[in-house]
Amino acid sequence: MNYIGDYFALGLVILLSMFFFDRKQSLNKASQYYVASLFFTALNSVTDIVTGQMMQNVQMPLWIIMGINSLYFLVNILTTSSIGLYLFTKILEHSHDKHCMKNAIIGLAACLAVYVIFLVANLWNGWMFYFDENGEYCRGPLNVLGYLITICQMVLVLICYTRNRKNASRSMRRVLIQTFPVSVMCIAIQRMYPEIMLNSFIMSMVVTVLFLNFQGQPQGVHNLTKLNDRHRFFEYVDVRIRKNEPFQVFLINLKNYGVINQKYGHMVGDEVLYHFAFALEKLIRNSEAFHMNGTVFALVIPYQSQQAADHYLSTLLSFLEGGMEFAGDHIHIDYVAVEYLAYETETDAKEFYEKLEYAAAKAYRQKERYIRCTPGIGEEMLRRRYLIERLQHIDREHGYQVWYQPICCLATGKYCSMEALIRLREPDGSIVSPAEFIPLAEETGIIASITWFVVEEVCRFLAANPQLDVSVGVNMPMAQMIDNGFGVRLNSIVDRYKVEHRRICMEFTERAILENFQQVRNVMNQFAEQGYRFYLDDFGAGYSNFNCLLQLPFHLIKLDAQLIQMDMEGYGYGCLGLTQKLTEFLHELRLPVIAEGVESRDEIQKLRGMGIDRVQGYAFARPMPDDELLKFYRDQEAAAAAG
Ligand code: C2E
Ligand code: MG
Ligand code: MG
Repeated sequence: MNYIGDYFALGLVILLSMFFFDRKQSLNKASQYYVASLFFTALNSVTDIVTGQMMQNVQMPLWIIMGINSLYFLVNILTTSSIGLYLFTKILEHSHDKHCMKNAIIGLAACLAVYVIFLVANLWNGWMFYFDENGEYCRGPLNVLGYLITICQMVLVLICYTRNRKNASRSMRRVLIQTFPVSVMCIAIQRMYPEIMLNSFIMSMVVTVLFLNFQGQPQGVHNLTKLNDRHRFFEYVDVRIRKNEPFQVFLINLKNYGVINQKYGHMVGDEVLYHFAFALEKLIRNSEAFHMNGTVFALVIPYQSQQAADHYLSTLLSFLEGGMEFAGDHIHIDYVAVEYLAYETETDAKEFYEKLEYAAAKAYRQKERYIRCTPGIGEEMLRRRYLIERLQHIDREHGYQVWYQPICCLATGKYCSMEALIRLREPDGSIVSPAEFIPLAEETGIIASITWFVVEEVCRFLAANPQLDVSVGVNMPMAQMIDNGFGVRLNSIVDRYKVEHRRICMEFTERAILENFQQVRNVMNQFAEQGYRFYLDDFGAGYSNFNCLLQLPFHLIKLDAQLIQMDMEGYGYGCLGLTQKLTEFLHELRLPVIAEGVESRDEIQKLRGMGIDRVQGYAFARPMPDDELLKFYRDQEAAAAAG
């Protein structure tokens, strides 16, 4: 007898085990069955070789030879049973029907039990094999029982697969397809060389196929969902870009997925993700689905027409809105979807993806679920990057300046206070508006450095120019103010320049207050005791919570520019005369009022008639650098002296 098949199988199993145990992962159920399959395949080869050697030994008692042969027969079926168990686990991996697995185990156990009964009975009746008077091995009428049992097990696997085809992974289909040519090849070899025992060889081939499909890490495929991964996405998009083929891309980010993980556990979380990927892949014909990372997916569809693109968009959105049905539960899915129609202008897949990610982040910021990328998105992204880069260095050398906008007291017609406003000067001399970079600074946390720069500059300016003797409004982010240590640092700067606390007026909006009312109240009371003042900025622009006016120690209220403009021009609710009514109300609370964004002399007159105390706007003065402010002050003084 030739043992080449056994030696080969043994070598292969050792090699696979070396790969398999090289990982540090703990063994899950499926992997445990795989280990069992490897073990029995190896045992199969060993028992085959040992049995063959013993049968050649004429001295060996018959009962030992019978016993070792029976063991070999048993190991054969134990091997196919463990492989069967592994296949069942993989087929039912994503199915939540627990009955199937139970039935599968019962089926396998029944096959094994029948076989063991016949094997034990064979010791007496010799139906499977026996040894004649000369000690020669003879096949009994039921010698093929092992093959029949294996066929039964295969039929069980096929039934299980057909019934659960929908939930089975693509790898499972591949395994079934690949096992077929492998088996045909083995049968052909067996027929050509009948002296070779191929059982263990066939089994070693099967465990190799299983290893390659399930246990190895296929390149370019996401481990969990088996969708193509981000590398494949780049390859795919790169080819389309090089061929100048337009395409539509959706980037889908499953937001707050932690909630699902927390509610159902991580295992179910993974399963839901798998089912989501599965459904996404089948959602749109011609589309290619990718699992980029974590909970981010992409769908690429060749562009046909705008009508088709719109249709795909609505298909995707209704799919996402519909959530997922899982194990009888309806799971709501929170998402952000970005759509990008890539025409011939794209040049690079990575750059293209960056734009998609930028758009997704923008949708997050704007609290939108869907966003369509516009052609200008690339420039917008570069501008944002440029600004973030510039925000890293906040000092005079890098173009930061504090400008001041004088505020006019309507009773005297003279300048009585001012607001400090940050400016960023570009190398070409142009100015970047804080309206553009302050939100970015807030998002990135860089706003804290801006505040300290402004506070320091303001104090330095006030200390250097005692003749000014006015208070200065400084815009303050509330999140920073309520932070421990803010007061200590503020006092250290203000006291270092010997500036009176009452001259520093902290400006902030209601939005900042409402998020954390109690804490804000405590902090404001604390600062008010130390002499600092507070202005409520942009009042009337959205929230208008009167509770803040009554409960917090404000010194002055600034009415929002938009509200003033509405009132001046009489549109929207401006025709209700809100400015005047609000001013009267605020005066009753002993709160003086500044009108913001006043652009004409005419408006100043009207506002005076409405009882407004002060105005801030281009009509009186624009924001200006410190040296211009000093000149403005001198001119005002000179005009007053002249009478
Ligand atoms: P804000 O605090 O409400 O400042 C008033 C804004 O109105 C300023 O815009 C000012 O230039 C503008 N303005 C004044 N008069 C007129 C007018 O007659 N017409 C028009 N159209 N606008 C007028 P600016 O300087 O662009 O600042 C915008 C916003 O950026 C500020 O609104 C404030 O929220 C923020 N900001 C500015 N500087 C700082 C700062 O140093 N720190 C912080 N945290 N935020 C700042
Ligand atoms: Mg302000
Ligand atoms: Mg304002």
